[in-house]
Amino acid sequence: MSAPNIETIVSLSKRRGFVFPASDIYGGLGSSWDYGPLGVELANNIKQSWWRWLVHERDDVEGLDSSIIQNRLVWKYSGHETTFSDPLVDCRTCKGRFREDKLRDVECPNEPGVCAGSGKECSLTEARQFNLMFRTTIGPVSSDDDPASLAYLRPETAQGIFINFKNVLDTSRRKLPFGIAQIGKSFRNEVTPGNFIFRTREFEQMEMEYFCRADDAARIHQEWIDDFWKWFESLGIKPENLKLYEQGPDELAHYAVRCVDILYKFFPEREEGQAQFDELMGIANRTDFDLKTHSKKPEDADGKRLNPDSTEDLSYFDPTTNERFYPYCIEPAAGVNRTVLAVLMDAYTEKTNDKGETRVILKLTPDLAPIKVAVLPLAKNKPEIVAMAKGLKKELLPSMRTVYDDTGGIGKLYARQDEIGTPFCVTVDHESLVDDAVTVRDRDTWEQERVKVAELKEYLLKRLYT
Ligand code: ATP
Repeated sequence: MSAPNIETIVSLSKRRGFVFPASDIYGGLGSSWDYGPLGVELANNIKQSWWRWLVHERDDVEGLDSSIIQNRLVWKYSGHETTFSDPLVDCRTCKGRFREDKLRDVECPNEPGVCAGSGKECSLTEARQFNLMFRTTIGPVSSDDDPASLAYLRPETAQGIFINFKNVLDTSRRKLPFGIAQIGKSFRNEVTPGNFIFRTREFEQMEMEYFCRADDAARIHQEWIDDFWKWFESLGIKPENLKLYEQGPDELAHYAVRCVDILYKFFPEREEGQAQFDELMGIANRTDFDLKTHSKKPEDADGKRLNPDSTEDLSYFDPTTNERFYPYCIEPAAGVNRTVLAVLMDAYTEKTNDKGETRVILKLTPDLAPIKVAVLPLAKNKPEIVAMAKGLKKELLPSMRTVYDDTGGIGKLYARQDEIGTPFCVTVDHESLVDDAVTVRDRDTWEQERVKVAELKEYLLKRLYT
């Protein structure tokens, strides 16, 4: 089987209810997607895995959930109002509009394969900067041209963390090094959204700001790069589909001293090489820029970043050394949607059954699978079997997400569960009424085992989580 590409996943997602095109009954809305019943479970399981691993299992990270709409001054001092832009180019031939730095990734919407910077016909204008922040207005009497009511939807969750640094520090009584983690929606008016949920205008981020002393920053940065690589592997993402990318000096944001991206092979159908890979997450050493820029009149030698609007000094006092300084910050920033896509691509496999039919098996880790167990009656016209199967489902439900399905022959029911990644099917048959046992079928091997009903819950929990 060749590697599944994004199209394979789009078709599975629509067919089985992972992801649907947004506003579909009104003709859709370009590059917007809704998560269906299975997709929302998968995305939630990914977010929970991240939160558990980062906030609960470690002892140095606090959680936060800050507002999407903040005071406009946040975006003034973070630099987003002036610098959060992409270079926009227009093509005079096809009238297409593209992001100059991503030309290799796009196809001309009007004449595929002709323009988009790749063909002879292409005639691109000079690039101009296009600010990606979505604008909105606040209050019932606001008008679009009233600067006092102008606000933005956040383009990243990070700034909500920086402006709460002192609140978290004071209330948690943390000492350096420590982190603040946040998961939430971000919005960017992308010039060229596309490739399913890879690049959308509304998306979800899992970000952490890890504050430390400047001397420790380089070492801690490297540790987070290594740790996040391992976290992606724990989600079932294959290491051969991941790659590290060290940003060059001309690519680095002006405040960063080092940034390493973890790339995933989102585009296996492209010509072998770098173009097959694109960003899954970025891990940056942002220096002390952010805490300084949001601080009331920070003492900067160049004097350019004085902030007369902030009411707080976000510096840190170390009582053991009697020093006051602005901590450095390491930022691992991952996208929920891109992680969902990478997980689905690596879980997708095909297998041929005895009848020569191709079956899709979604080999999600048990932790991520939207449904853990399906209870299936072998004969739906036998009330005792149906009652026993429904009773088992009820018993298992509080410990693991379980569904009951009797809407087809057993082969069809198994195939349906394989395709959505359910690790185990439990079948109740005629024999079950006599021996009080059921058949447990493994999604990946299709092997079946007879298990006593009294031991079923423990058996499944052990196989799911150890
Ligand atoms: P790109 O270069 O692909 O535009 P970026 O470097 O601007 O991404 P960051 O600002 O580092 O992205 O955001 C962190 C993460 O958020 C990215 O690694 C990605 O997973 C996710 N992300 C960013 N923009 C989008 C988007 N438009 N749609 C979906 N996910 C996104």
